[in-house]
Amino acid sequence: MIKLPRTLSFRLTLWYGIIFSLSSCMAFFFFYVLIATNLKHRLDSRLSEKISEFEAIYNLQGVEEVKAAALIESQAAGEKKIFFRLLYASGVAFSSSNMSYWQEIGLNRNAVGQLVEGRSRVYETLTISGRPDRVRIAYGIIGRGVVVQLGYSMENDTAFIAIFKKIFLITMSGLILTAVLVGWFMARRALSGVEAVTRTARQISESDLGRRVPVMARHEEIDRLAVTFNQMLDRIEKLIAGMREMGDNIAHDLKSPVARIRGMAEISLSGASNGGDDLTLAGSTIEECDRLLDMINTMLMISKTDAGVGDAAMGPVNMADVVRGAVALFAPLAEDKGLSLTCETADTLMVEGDLKMLQRAMANLVDNAIKYTPAPGNIDIRAFRDMKDIERINVSIKDSGAGIDTEEQLKIFNRFFRCDQSRATGGSGLGLSLARTIARAHGGEIDVESTPGKGSVFTLCLPSAADQLRT
Ligand code: ADP
Repeated sequence: MIKLPRTLSFRLTLWYGIIFSLSSCMAFFFFYVLIATNLKHRLDSRLSEKISEFEAIYNLQGVEEVKAAALIESQAAGEKKIFFRLLYASGVAFSSSNMSYWQEIGLNRNAVGQLVEGRSRVYETLTISGRPDRVRIAYGIIGRGVVVQLGYSMENDTAFIAIFKKIFLITMSGLILTAVLVGWFMARRALSGVEAVTRTARQISESDLGRRVPVMARHEEIDRLAVTFNQMLDRIEKLIAGMREMGDNIAHDLKSPVARIRGMAEISLSGASNGGDDLTLAGSTIEECDRLLDMINTMLMISKTDAGVGDAAMGPVNMADVVRGAVALFAPLAEDKGLSLTCETADTLMVEGDLKMLQRAMANLVDNAIKYTPAPGNIDIRAFRDMKDIERINVSIKDSGAGIDTEEQLKIFNRFFRCDQSRATGGSGLGLSLARTIARAHGGEIDVESTPGKGSVFTLCLPSAADQLRT
């Protein structure tokens, strides 16, 4: 069995070829029917005119003159071209041209009957066995009880049909070939963009994620596909870069505590420490392990909250209380560091959420503000209903600290990301990532505005609880 190519261009070409050929065939067919009908009408009216002439001769000069005129007519045109018979209405022929060529043609009594009943002309087409052309016969009454049968060979029509067939075959083969070529060209042209996308996708899967599909601004749809494909690649590239960076950060942040634990274990093993030091080493090991465990737990919590499978206990929470609680908790730390911590909040700012999670997010933000603000400095915390959108509650934590570079502002919410300048300060790089995950799990967001050298403002914005809006 022949296996057809399973490509879109092949199918488009095939459909184009079939539809084009069918339409051409139909056009040819209508053209043929039109011409054939026209030719027949012309022949019929010529035969009818001849009969009318015989009728006039009969009326003026009698039947003998009709016989003579008909004979001259058949001899002039050729006895193989035209013939006539004169007969009575009873069907008995009393005169005819030389019928040796037309022997097979008899009399159609039915046609004569129709004339007698009042029809002026009756026509029929007969095929003579063994001859390619047909004959058109007309019957008409030319005088009282006298009928003429006039036959005319249709060899001209046969010749016309033969020529028509030849033209049809030659033209159709040319048309089909052109249709297939044009169809193939058009399909290839239309799909060339898809080909480019496929080529790029193949090159990418083989090695190079930096490649992009060329956008030609030629075929609208294909260009849209190329642009969408390129956008998807941009996103994937960014994601991969982000994952790579996160991987590097994880490796970097986990390496130091593990190296420290290993070092301490080595000291214990080598017996370089005495009894008292052993206890200190064990204590430090536990501390390092706790730090690691804390990091791992935070990572798990972020992943779970992100995926929406965390064990959040949702309920009404007054954010004003959460803010006041965080300020009370961190006030001693701020004071120790020589920072002034101020707080301004409405009495009630109800949200629907998990109290512990919201407390943790708030604590991370205040902790950061204290950590990254050198003394003397200020930290102002404000909690209020959004002026433009009363359905939102904003908590802003403003510090007069080091600030964050514009480029780094985009990354600080990534897991394990820490600005270079903060690496000396303790931390895991997970605090902001967890805080943003918590905010998003509550339908909110955390944004940052920062001027390097002047300070930062972190704004936690949460949707207000529906109950509070009604009251
Ligand atoms: P960590 O504080 O443990 O390093 P975070 O996720 O809380 O991790 O913060 C990520 C990074 O964002 C920090 O390392 C720090 O560089 C930067 N950052 C966070 N908050 C502030 C702030 N208030 N001022 C300046 N830099 C900040």
